Amino acid sequence: MDPLEPRDRLERIGGIVRRMGVDVVSSCSVDGETRARFHGSIRDASSRLDHAIVLGVQLSSEVLGTIEGAPNWTYYHHYRTVNFALDQAALVAAGECRRLGGRAFPVPASQVMDWDRLLGHLSHRELGARAGVGWRGRNNLLVHPVHGSQVRYATVLTDLPLPSPGIELPAGAGCGDCRACVGACPAGAIAMDPLAFDLDRCTAQVRRFSRSEKLNVLICGICVRACRGGASAAALGGAA
Ligand code: SF4
Ligand code: SF4
Repeated sequence: MDPLEPRDRLERIGGIVRRMGVDVVSSCSVDGETRARFHGSIRDASSRLDHAIVLGVQLSSEVLGTIEGAPNWTYYHHYRTVNFALDQAALVAAGECRRLGGRAFPVPASQVMDWDRLLGHLSHRELGARAGVGWRGRNNLLVHPVHGSQVRYATVLTDLPLPSPGIELPAGAGCGDCRACVGACPAGAIAMDPLAFDLDRCTAQVRRFSRSEKLNVLICGICVRACRGGASAAALGGAA
């Protein structure tokens, strides 16, 4: 393995992917409890990869601004483009992990593995929260203190030691009194308590959108458009 300290290693990988347009880079450890929630298809393959690199690309506020009551083809294209950029960045980050003497598993940004609950290989939100990138918001998404939920994520699992968390979340970060997403959701899926989020209502709504908007994909974007980081963004003055 390389002689780098964990933080220097993260900075080296981060420097490479930031040049590819990645806006958020952090890392965290992966414990057995977290791994137990991974999709079964990757649990064994990742059993010795005990760290995660979290990569985030910000969505365009301008594209999100085109969402008026329902997702549209413009958002769909942007969503796919950002996912593709994330998958490319994860591939490059995984390659750098290997060059540093480690093993690495680039986890897709958005590949549905459980079609009933619309879950992927693992929860990028959960690992992002462990990595200090943000918190679980009322909308059931990861909320970055400056960019809100307007960031999409991918993860690279690796056996290289990395800082955990890679970022310290600012003191007081959280939804606070914000309820911007609560009234915005057409399905009434969002409650003040993030643990009361109604996943069934949300998934039923995105399936309805898929049919009504003829998108043939399960997206929404309404609560993403609404979320600019709650109390924390105001406290930080919108700093990047
Ligand atoms: S994705 Fe859409 S349906 Fe689901 S919680 Fe957000 S606004 Fe509601
Ligand atoms: S819109 Fe406000 S309440 Fe909803 S998740 Fe974002 S910060 Fe939290």
